[in-house]
Amino acid sequence: MNDDLKALIRTIPDFPKPGIQFRDITTLLLDPAGFATTIERMVAATVGPVDLVAGIEARGFLFAAALAMPLNAGVLLIRKDGKLPGATIAEDYALEYGEDRIVMHEDALVPGQRVLLVDDLIATGGTARAAVRLLRKAGAQLTQAQFVVDLPDLGGADALRAENIQVDSLVT
Ligand code: 5GP
Repeated sequence: MNDDLKALIRTIPDFPKPGIQFRDITTLLLDPAGFATTIERMVAATVGPVDLVAGIEARGFLFAAALAMPLNAGVLLIRKDGKLPGATIAEDYALEYGEDRIVMHEDALVPGQRVLLVDDLIATGGTARAAVRLLRKAGAQLTQAQFVVDLPDLGGADALRAENIQVDSLVT
């Protein structure tokens, strides 16, 4: 069903380190029809009105921004630490080796606003789950997350669903 989009995503072996099969969506972005279809399908999968689309740095920004237009929503940036100029709130999450931190502006949303979380890909779900904690800490009403690619063997989508998030993806 989603083979048309799958064909536009290439796999780069051993990136960023040996043994990792990196799913590269830059080839999907280069294809005007493929990118448009991606956004159309994400719009169609969106449940209910959305006030803000939250995108995760950096590839998530591209899909969040394009999706926000037809949804009549704003774009909320979830960034790596140290990139946002205003006062931020932060959430830490575990990596395979070590820890990482994502942040958002503390005044980016009004409590109760309906937020849709978007990223290019979900693997272990560590990044997305930290984003959910961050957005909920800020008072977001967050019930859905969308990804272009889900790597289901890594369990991230199921872990998000366990936190009462509807998870949709276009390519598995
Ligand atoms: P997770 O936290 O779910 O393990 O990893 C997802 C995050 O890492 C996302 O922000 C995603 O952009 C990035 N990521 C991890 N693996 C890949 C991959 O194979 N391809 C792409 N495009 N992004 C990846």
